[in-house]
Amino acid sequence: MADFSIDPNFQEQLDWIREFVKAEIEPLDLAFAGEDMVYNKASAFYEEAIRPLQQIVKDRGLWSCHLTPEYGGQGYGQVQLAYMNEILGRSQFGPTVFGSQAPDSGNAEIIAHYGTPEQKAKYLEPLLDGRISSCYSMTEPQGGADPGVFTCSAVRDGDEWVIDGEKWFASSLRYATFLIVMVITDPDVVVHKGASMFLVPADSPGIEVVRNVGVGQEAEGHGGHAYVRYNSVRVPAENLLGGEGQAFAIAQTRLGGGRLHHAMRTVGAVSRCLDMLCERALSRTTQGELLARKQATQEKIADSFIELLQFKLQVLHAAWVVDQKGGHAARKEIAAVKAATPKVYREAVLRTMQLHGALGVSNEMPLANMLMASVTMGIADGPTEVHKFTVAREVLKEYAPAEGDWPSEHLPERRAAARAEFADLLERSVSDH
Ligand SMILES: Cc1cc2nc3c(=O)[nH]c(=O)nc-3n(C[C@H](O)[C@H](O)[C@H](O)COP(=O)(O)OP(=O)(O)OC[C@H]3O[C@@H](n4cnc5c(N)ncnc54)[C@H](O)[C@@H]3O)c2cc1C
Repeated sequence: MADFSIDPNFQEQLDWIREFVKAEIEPLDLAFAGEDMVYNKASAFYEEAIRPLQQIVKDRGLWSCHLTPEYGGQGYGQVQLAYMNEILGRSQFGPTVFGSQAPDSGNAEIIAHYGTPEQKAKYLEPLLDGRISSCYSMTEPQGGADPGVFTCSAVRDGDEWVIDGEKWFASSLRYATFLIVMVITDPDVVVHKGASMFLVPADSPGIEVVRNVGVGQEAEGHGGHAYVRYNSVRVPAENLLGGEGQAFAIAQTRLGGGRLHHAMRTVGAVSRCLDMLCERALSRTTQGELLARKQATQEKIADSFIELLQFKLQVLHAAWVVDQKGGHAARKEIAAVKAATPKVYREAVLRTMQLHGALGVSNEMPLANMLMASVTMGIADGPTEVHKFTVAREVLKEYAPAEGDWPSEHLPERRAAARAEFADLLERSVSDH
């Protein structure tokens, strides 16, 4: 039986997180906005403002809750993470303070899963401890959604591999101590079998950042996503993550959870939109009455509330399926959530923007940035179209073609069968009249 109640002890944690985010983290969002601040772990700001808050979270037993206790996490199931990430999704620094900031969280997961003891000691431990940042480098300039066009490759040379090629949109590379790079190691087989992943120190000779690309209206050169060239970058053979040809299996481990966590945080962002929408509706008077009294406003509020509730339940259900059956068995649910995320987010932002008029599109509200974030949700970690394809493929597996020339719901055939079953009764009821 479905049960939406929350364990009182966990609810107490959630209440604490909500208060902590509001009182301690949201002011940081306002005073220190920008990617630099989130990823630059060597900055005085990070040392003085972020680390003490991280320590409070650790002392409270809420650090990196997505990881197992073996790696210093809490081993929370996805349903618990959904409630928690909903709160953290309201704040830019929330995930950083709680040790679940992408891409570090996903990178930590795959090293924990596939890394050797030496790799874990060298890369995972400082990453989990929040001392260093990392980067995930998979997308190439000529194509991200289709790995079949990837060309960046590594060739074995004695005890080393030599990486050559270009990658695109490698987020936060400028602050990374190491990168996880996906490359072709066997061009003679299909890419799903011929690609491997390497742990590459960011100061390796030959890594050339062509430029840092920004999103939306970020100033030229100040963006956080690197267009990067690997010019015969040499890495020791022991830096291979997992086995040769395992890159896609590793990527799936990383992306499934990551996609769901983005959706969980989006629930928080969408509920923030609803808060802004309702407050505005109750605060602004036009033509002698509150906006809240206009039917058009009520429709916006109802639509935002309904879509938020539907989305939240969808995310919780996907999280529950992962907890029950594992991420692989939940690929349909995860893909469906991923496809729904940008649409729900975008529509919520647009309604809230509209009701705020000029203020809504101005740089004095968070909405323009949220709109761009909603669009990127439909591209990062794979475009919506590809996730819909996955949903359709998985749904179709549950169906079979019609047996004859007509659909199984074709009424004349069904009626004929039903009439044959009840022939006696039909005949008697006709003769009764
Ligand atoms: C904010 C942000 C951060 C990112 N961070 C990283 C990162 O850290 N590391 C990394 O490696 N990558 C990163 N990416 C890149 C991201 O993974 C790619 O953008 C994504 O996989 C899509 O690839 P693409 O941009 O090359 O688009 P393309 O593959 O060129 O696709 C463009 C469009 O074509 C259409 N399309 C594509 N395939 C299909 C299809 N099969 N059927 C129908 N239509 C289709 C869709 O409309 C799609 O949006 C990031 C992207 C963003 C926006």
